[in-house]
Amino acid sequence: MSSQVIAARIRGFICLNAHPAGCAANVDREIALARAQAPGKGLGAVLVVGGSTGYGLSSLVSAVFGYGARGTAVCLERPPQGEKTASAGWYNLAAAQRRAREAGRDVSVINGDAFSREIKDQTIGALRKSGVKLDHVIYSLAAPKRVDGDQSWSSVLKPLGAPFRSKSVNLGNEQVTEVEIAPASDAEVEATRKVMGGEDFAAWVHALADADLLARGCRAVAYSYVGPALTFPIYRSGTIGKAKEDLEKTTTELSAMLAARLGGAAWVSVNKGLVTQASAAIPVVPLYISLLFKVMKAAGTHEGTAEQIARLYHDHLGPGRTPRTDAEGRIRLDDLELRPDIQAQVSALWAEVTTENLSAIADYAGFRTDFRKLFGFEVPGVDYAQPVEIDVGID
Ligand code: NAD
Repeated sequence: MSSQVIAARIRGFICLNAHPAGCAANVDREIALARAQAPGKGLGAVLVVGGSTGYGLSSLVSAVFGYGARGTAVCLERPPQGEKTASAGWYNLAAAQRRAREAGRDVSVINGDAFSREIKDQTIGALRKSGVKLDHVIYSLAAPKRVDGDQSWSSVLKPLGAPFRSKSVNLGNEQVTEVEIAPASDAEVEATRKVMGGEDFAAWVHALADADLLARGCRAVAYSYVGPALTFPIYRSGTIGKAKEDLEKTTTELSAMLAARLGGAAWVSVNKGLVTQASAAIPVVPLYISLLFKVMKAAGTHEGTAEQIARLYHDHLGPGRTPRTDAEGRIRLDDLELRPDIQAQVSALWAEVTTENLSAIADYAGFRTDFRKLFGFEVPGVDYAQPVEIDVGID
């Protein structure tokens, strides 16, 4: 047992600790949102790979609390160690598990490297033991690295072909400066594909199908991003965009396999740009997101991950729904972000934004608060002067 008063320890786009009560309050808010427009039943079981934070956590919460699913989350999170807090994802899943139990539902957690055969086997073993077959497999991994035996690949966020010069906000000193990012080598393009492309999604779905753990009509969904032209060089036309193209191509192949074997299907859902641990690390994107938030909040169309995923389930994925897709077969939850009037305003602000006017014309305060909230800090209703127990377990 170890109670302490916890203050955020932030270094640029990384926060070194997390607040268990703040994380639990975030999860409670997500649960309330998931319950609001959903029937509370309809799904048997879901697996979320990358289910501890961001889009994956919201997916788990929507399925379990919105549609009564038995949930399994695979994640890579740090448990508490002595005086050191756990990572935010650990506290999120501990809270989700607690709330699930109180509601007579079930959330299982497999903590380890999702890329590994060992964690796939462990997950398969746990699902077999529980005797359930999966209605949904959600793939929401955002990883910097993949290891396979003595080989490893690190993903990079770089443009292709030529250097990219752009405005960007430095999250350490909050200055808007011009950055230049050198183009990726061919080896870096391939490494990013190995980490963030479709290979591991396919490996999961095939392993689960071979283990006879997918229900008839099973739906598999992976998340992607497109974004606006101004981030294309670093995102959609960059190394990560190439990896996402690979993920999208793999998803089409998986869909054919699921249709033939189980009458199921696979989709990519293109989601909105939002503050998560993964997106905060991308150059240029935090400045774009700060301007986007300003414009979308003023238009009354702003959503967070919980609202996005509630919409995904309500409109596309929930029981009885057939996903609506674009010409490439993708679900588009980024429709409101990419509305021409929204993007025209963001582009106009982008041309003007400087260090001096950052807090006036961008919602940098919103970005900053959302970033701190990811780790359980600055969450309304939490008394940060009180000591809290950091030694919180997951079963
Ligand atoms: P996130 O950082 O909040 O979540 C990443 C998840 O992956 C966590 O659960 C983490 O524990 C898990 N993880 C990382 N490495 C792992 C490993 N080796 N083994 C097991 N688990 C591991 O990220 P996010 O932003 O929610 O991203 C999830 C997906 O959504 C990604 O595919 C991302 O590209 C996509 N997406 C994100 C945005 C955005 O703006 N954040 C927008 C559209 C799509």
